Amino acid sequence: MAKINETTLEINLQALAHNYHFFRNNISQKIKFMGVVKASAYGSHTVEIAKKLTDLGADYLAVAYTQEGIKLRKANLKIPILVFHPLPIHFEEIITHKLTPSIFSKRNLSAFIKTAEKLKLENYPIHLKLNTGMNRLGFNENDLDFILEKITKTKAIKVEGVFSHLAASEDKNEKEFTLNQLEKFQIFCKKISSYLNYRFTKHICNTSGILNYPQAHFDMVRCGIGLYGYGNAVEIDKKLKPIASLKTIISQIHYLKKGDSVSYNRKFKAEKSMKIATLPLGYADGIHRDFGNKNIKFYFKEKPVPIIGDICMDMIMIDISGIDGKEGEEVLIFDAQQNAEKLAQTVNTISYELLTGISSRVKRVVLA
Ligand SMILES: *Cc1c(COP(=O)(O)O)cnc(C)c1O
Repeated sequence: MAKINETTLEINLQALAHNYHFFRNNISQKIKFMGVVKASAYGSHTVEIAKKLTDLGADYLAVAYTQEGIKLRKANLKIPILVFHPLPIHFEEIITHKLTPSIFSKRNLSAFIKTAEKLKLENYPIHLKLNTGMNRLGFNENDLDFILEKITKTKAIKVEGVFSHLAASEDKNEKEFTLNQLEKFQIFCKKISSYLNYRFTKHICNTSGILNYPQAHFDMVRCGIGLYGYGNAVEIDKKLKPIASLKTIISQIHYLKKGDSVSYNRKFKAEKSMKIATLPLGYADGIHRDFGNKNIKFYFKEKPVPIIGDICMDMIMIDISGIDGKEGEEVLIFDAQQNAEKLAQTVNTISYELLTGISSRVKRVVLA
């Protein structure tokens, strides 16, 4: 690993390849693989991750919002890209950039068909999103007549895919609920299929779905967090490699005496002489204020070093008493061993949130 001189998120493409192969080997050859690269590829680097996944053989990519898809097209990626959550205001851009919209509501279906007809398109691919129990986005069963009437009446669009999302695929206690979602999905798909004279791609599994419900891979799986090295289960985490490491350096060292306080509102007071270090990293970089005053530890020279005092917008102080350290030396926030899931759990959140929260001002370095 190269020496760093500022707060840096290192992204390891070899680890990404390892994780990709792990999931690819968990699904049958004929099933398509969609790599989910929304939210800057879970906080890492959208374009580099998208390129690598394409090279590795992914069949499809997915993003949440239209602008994320446009960014990939501008980087010259030609692979199909599904936009999970497009809004009508962006439908023309979706088409201009050859993105595939997820269509989840009557309002959006009507609006998309209108746009596609206005542009005189034929068979523009869309994926229909069905609500099978998450109650977030998706058509409900009683929308079916409306959908079928709309899509059989127009030539402008074609149902390339039909999908849904599992609400609790990582939770073994919710197996019955998940099986019920799967059953609803199949019934829904059968009805749609009986009206269309062509086949479409069915998909429902996210990372935990891939691993826990092999019977539900259908025609394609959608893998997000697993590609980044986290599997929502201790035994899976052991088989994956976290791709991102967050590191920083010591900006300044201070020596405190008993009674001195640290940071805003003096929440930390030294009980003895201490050596502390200030880091160029704060809540505006994605280390939530909740991490402050909780005895949460970063790593300096492989030793755990606690955060002390309130976390500031651009700074965090740590206790490095008793360690032979100098300004400019490296401090580890998380990596493949001291991983983001462990750190996230200390403040009752999940790796997803910690990773996607690392803000854009943190330098990204991609290791090939
Ligand atoms: C984010 C997302 C995924 C990926 O989920 P992971 O748990 O990260 O694998 C899959 N499908 C949809 C609809 C999503 O929004």
